[in-house]
Amino acid sequence: MSPKRTQIEVVYLDGSRGKAIATGTNAAWVCNCGNEQLLLGRAAPDTATNTPTQVECPACHRQFRVAPIGGTQSDAMEVSEIATG
Ligand SMILES: [Zn+2]
Repeated sequence: MSPKRTQIEVVYLDGSRGKAIATGTNAAWVCNCGNEQLLLGRAAPDTATNTPTQVECPACHRQFRVAPIGGTQSDAMEVSEIATG
């Protein structure tokens, strides 16, 4: 059975919120700066695909972290902005 897709929140440091799509430990979202590039992160690091838990928007350089529900191998729960660019 493949992981189901769920919608999770992107929480920005200014308090605004956006939406991300989570599939298991993976999360995909678009930064609210207007850059259209899809950002991809994981709640658990994956050395096979080299997908990080922390992702930087290439346009505004905000940094995001994908938080797991709990533990180190659990599904993505939320995407948090951890630093402004
Ligand atoms: Zn951005």
